[in-house]
Amino acid sequence: MPKGYSDDGLKRVDLEKVDVETYLRSLNIQNISHEVNDFRFSCPYTENHAFGDNNPSAYMNKETTAFICFGCGAAGNAVTMLADVMNISRTQARYFIAEKWAPHFVEIQDLKGYLTKLMRQNELEAQSAPDFWIPEEHYEARAVDWQELADVAPSEIPGWAKYMLYEREFSPEILDEFEFVYDPVYGRPCVTVRDEHNRLVGFKGRAWREGQEPKYIVLGDNDRGIELYGARFGFPPYEASDYVFGINKVEKNIPLIVCEGEFNVASMHDKGYKNTIGPSGSTMTQKQVDQIVDYTDEVIIFFDYDLKNQGSALTAKMKIAAVVEMFEAKVSTKIVPEHWGDPAEMEQEEVDRLVHGARSSTVERLLRLIA
Ligand SMILES: [Zn+2]
Repeated sequence: MPKGYSDDGLKRVDLEKVDVETYLRSLNIQNISHEVNDFRFSCPYTENHAFGDNNPSAYMNKETTAFICFGCGAAGNAVTMLADVMNISRTQARYFIAEKWAPHFVEIQDLKGYLTKLMRQNELEAQSAPDFWIPEEHYEARAVDWQELADVAPSEIPGWAKYMLYEREFSPEILDEFEFVYDPVYGRPCVTVRDEHNRLVGFKGRAWREGQEPKYIVLGDNDRGIELYGARFGFPPYEASDYVFGINKVEKNIPLIVCEGEFNVASMHDKGYKNTIGPSGSTMTQKQVDQIVDYTDEVIIFFDYDLKNQGSALTAKMKIAAVVEMFEAKVSTKIVPEHWGDPAEMEQEEVDRLVHGARSSTVERLLRLIA
């Protein structure tokens, strides 16, 4: 439990607002009927009912969402049921409910589909591959001298180099420092990924041409690729959820800024924040959190609010809530103010304003409660 606020208080405030019938229907719960103070329905803890629960034995209170099943004895409320049934954390469930029945609720049409996706993501993160690293010759074969490219006229360098230097506006110093390379198989600029001991783990390519899909691709031979093209790389793809990008470049025992993805990390270093690291995507695993808290007593969460996608303001908040929950249990956690876009796209002044405006996550929660 994070310090400074009451879990029961938050639940009580939010759960009174829950429309129990909508809640149950959105979870595809069967045989819902209205009793005086409760809704009666078939128990969603299906593993407890060998023949289903066709003669419904579960009840949820309309006011408090208190829930009990007289068949299997399962009990709880809208938060614990949602967390159990969808296999998500209680914090994720609580935030979901708070958002759904809060005034500024962002509509998600397919609640079940959304939660199923979240659940699958959690499962994937649980299965992580063992550590491995690959010979340095794979880096040397792809190495690029960015300083040299920057000294040539833009019209005379390849498109992928122009993209990095002039469209994304990375400095040649940062591109050299972070060992951005070029991979001829996919024809893409790539980041070099190393573990905390500086061992080479792999490469991730970035799309740079119009319409090039997918946006990011981890290099390496997998079964399907070998079947189609033979071994093109000579190493397997690394497991992105096992590594923290930039951890080999930061000092220990100073506050660390955590942002999403390699490009944002490199861009933050370019803007003078040499204490920035990040997971390789928008979600974090316990393994990544454990690596980070080994380095520091304080983190500053600087994740993206991608407001261009539908439902993403809610997704961003849930994503940040989940990350904050993981860190809060172990270290002091600050969050930068809400913002638009990601640090790689921002001007220096905006990044400075956000980093300096970071507030403790406990204060943020209290403000949410009284908002
Ligand atoms: Zn039951």
